[in-house]
Order: sequence, then structure tokens, then C-alpha cells
Amino acid sequence: MRILIVTDIEGVASVVHPEQTREGNAEYEIARRWMTREASAAVCGAFDGGASEVRVNDSHGSYRNLLADELDPRARLVHGKPRTLGMMGGLEAGFAGVMLVGFHSRAQTQGVLAHTINSAAFARVWLNGKELGEAGLYGALAGELGVPVIFASGDDIFAGETRPLFPHCVFTVTKQATGRHSAISLSPQASCEAIRAGARQAMAAIGPASPLLLDTPVQARLQTQTPAHADLFCQWPALERIDGVTLQFSAASVEHALRMLNCLSAMASALR
Ligand SMILES: [Zn+2]
Repeated sequence: MRILIVTDIEGVASVVHPEQTREGNAEYEIARRWMTREASAAVCGAFDGGASEVRVNDSHGSYRNLLADELDPRARLVHGKPRTLGMMGGLEAGFAGVMLVGFHSRAQTQGVLAHTINSAAFARVWLNGKELGEAGLYGALAGELGVPVIFASGDDIFAGETRPLFPHCVFTVTKQATGRHSAISLSPQASCEAIRAGARQAMAAIGPASPLLLDTPVQARLQTQTPAHADLFCQWPALERIDGVTLQFSAASVEHALRMLNCLSAMASALR
């Protein structure tokens, strides 16, 4: 059984502030170590549960956060950007499952550091009329490759919004969100123990899990953070403007929809 572990940082235990997520800050250097430990805990759980191969992808910011020499050496590390599958980099058809570690809730919710792909540019994203965050968007991309999401960790708001998408997924709640920048958190050590146990449990329950499948072509809708972002994005002829901050486009697949969203996210830097 081959497993991909996708790692982000905002849902890691004891991470609550943007400075912990941005390079160039002393606190970030501590938080990336916690992120690496939670990734390794999931690697341990996957192997405890019978995985034959585990890849860990780094999916926060620059995609260069995990400390390679501290990651469980049994895993292969997928890092660096840009890459075509974005947060699903390293996934192939035939993998048994995907684990999402350190994830956060979607933009406009009450979760810790909630956002969707690009906090400066994107306010809300819908595929086929369903509003999704990163777990849902990329879970649907994994689904397109026939792979189910079997385990996820993050705060309680993330778990609550994501659970209905993946009914057989095992969740580990790392912290209770008490605001955008505050939480009641497990300690890093306790969180790692819970993630290892949850990942092992997910491996045992892999049978009934089914991939998240969306109808194609995919109808994507995007609400931008400002009208200036919509002004910029609708220069792309494939995008239709609905109102000051809403755009829509059609994509042949979830993969193509995400590639478009990631292109728009990169374009958004023109407005900074
Ligand atoms: Zn992130």
C-alpha cells in the first residue's frame, strides 16, 4: 500500500499566528520543526498500519518547510514549486490513500489561520456549486486519480467542515480554535502521539474509503478578496466576470481547475 502524506503548517498543534508560518521569523524556525515532527508521526502511523511506501509532500508556502534531515528517513520527500499537481505533488494512480496533516479550514470561517490557497487574493471557491477549502479541492484531485483521503489533522473547525466530504476518513483534532489567531492546543508531543495513532487507525480502515468524485467538466466559481483582483484575473479570456468580486470558468477536470486557480494565485502577486 503506497501512501501520500500532504503537509501544511496552519493546522499543526501550537501554531496560531502568521509569523509562525512565514520564513524569516524566529518562531517559524520552531514551527517548521513541529510540522516536520507531525509529518514523521504520520509516516510512523502509516508504516505501523502496513504501508509499503510513503511519500511526504511539503505543501505550505514555498513548499520548502520540512526539515529533510529530521523527517522519518523511511519516507521520500516531495518538495519545491511550481509543480503541476500542487498540493497533491507526488501522488499517482494506484496509491492506497492520502493523509492530510496540519490542514486548516477554508477562507471566511472561524478556524485558525483559515484561508483557501491564497489568503490575499481568494475569498471563496466553489466547484460545481459546492464551496470547498484546500482539503476539499485537493481531495477531489486525489479522487480524480482514484485515491481516497483516509486521514486528516488540523483544528476542530477544519475537522467539522471536512468530515462530510470524506465519511470514512479518520480525523485527529490538534487544537480547538478560539479565534483566527488563538487556540487551545495539544502540546507538540501529544499531537504527534495522536497523529501516529490516528494514521495507524486510518490504515486499518482503508477498505471502505472511497475517492471524492466530482462531475466533469467542472464549473468553478471564485470570489476574490478585492475588485482589483477580479479586474486582473478576468484579463484571462477563459474567465467570465459575474460581479465586482465574482468570476467563473469551466475546466475539463479538477486538475485543470486547480491549475487555473494556482495560475491566478501566482498572477495575484502583480497587485502586491
Ligand atoms: Zn499553509
